[in-house]
Amino acid sequence: MTDFAATRNLFHLPDGVIYLDGNSLGPLPRDAPARVARTTVAEWGDMLITGWNKAGWMAQPAALGDRIGRLIGAEAGHVTLGDTLSIKVFQALAAALNLVPDRRVVLSDNGNFPTDLYMAEGLMRLRDSGHSLRVVDPEAVAGAITDEVAVVMLTEVDYRTGRKHDMAAITARAHAAGAVVIWDLAHSAGALPVDLSGTGADFAVGCTYKYLNGGPGAPAFIYVAPRHADSLQPALAGWLGHAAPFDFDLAYRPGARVERMRVGTPPVLQMAALEAAMDIWDTVDMQAVRTASVALCERFIADVEAACPMLALASPRDAAARGSQVSFRFADGYAVMQALIARGVIGDFRAPDIMRFGFTPLFIGEDDVRAAAAILAEVMRDRLWDRPEHHKRAAVT
Ligand SMILES: *Cc1c(COP(=O)(O)O)cnc(C)c1O
Repeated sequence: MTDFAATRNLFHLPDGVIYLDGNSLGPLPRDAPARVARTTVAEWGDMLITGWNKAGWMAQPAALGDRIGRLIGAEAGHVTLGDTLSIKVFQALAAALNLVPDRRVVLSDNGNFPTDLYMAEGLMRLRDSGHSLRVVDPEAVAGAITDEVAVVMLTEVDYRTGRKHDMAAITARAHAAGAVVIWDLAHSAGALPVDLSGTGADFAVGCTYKYLNGGPGAPAFIYVAPRHADSLQPALAGWLGHAAPFDFDLAYRPGARVERMRVGTPPVLQMAALEAAMDIWDTVDMQAVRTASVALCERFIADVEAACPMLALASPRDAAARGSQVSFRFADGYAVMQALIARGVIGDFRAPDIMRFGFTPLFIGEDDVRAAAAILAEVMRDRLWDRPEHHKRAAVT
């Protein structure tokens, strides 16, 4: 079992703050500053260019990929890191389309994160090969998997509502219909157990700065199922995805397996911060995270609903259909969230009316949940949100 009292002490959490936004940007692991400083001074500073070999910088994307892979049920050697999640979505979809050359539809849902859909549309314009994006309600996805569909591209947990797709059922249905599946795990990796290998997912992508606590700008990850890994032609054929980058061969030859999904130089300093986070994750059991996360979410829903009848639960009531966040709808949700943040309860707001609270047992406990719900109750009861300063929109909400 994971000792969550112990993991909490491994994070830097400012005094007076209840942080319910680890689903957007995970907090700082206490060891990260020293780790980044060491990589900066003892590696970059002292080793200079030799750090690529001596400090193993070049091997880090694969090593960190395997550590993340354990959390998402990936086979060893089939996850790598680099770039941002938007880029990894593009790469996965480009590769997936080539696996089903005789079909022209990409199926997604309107709960998907916009960048995933934008990347799909951009890729289709670039290919100019008659593909179209079909976007349906999340509940309608399974029924929309017809024999026209080449690729089903979904985010497992809806970033606004926390609604969770049934990964095993949708993957099985897609395969039965002759389609391949890409799972975006942005709100799954580190949030709940994922079994990529068991469910037979074709591709998965995700980011490391949300639940995984790799820090702002931390690289994304990508998984390619072993059965596809040696046959893919990467759309972004970068030199570090080449079989032998330092041959400086003018002809591209893809690297082994998921290595070919690397593009350019990895972010070494950012990976140092992520390593500090993964030192914590290496000790964590995802089933224990799930059990604790469900308890925290249930507590929050019960307390908020008891005290705030004006807030409408936007997340599924059934814990099994929910990720690790709870959302409530309220027309002035932005102002409410600003009033909460002013009182040390940090969640976030997603237009048009969603207040989002992420529950991450690594550093949030039941006392925090009770205290946050009590502060929200006070803000609602006394209309503390209805002040001019809370209505002013910032660039990042
Ligand atoms: C957070 C998130 C992204 C962000 O993409 P970046 O390229 O890392 O900025 C993309 N997709 C989903 C589903 C997300 O939740």
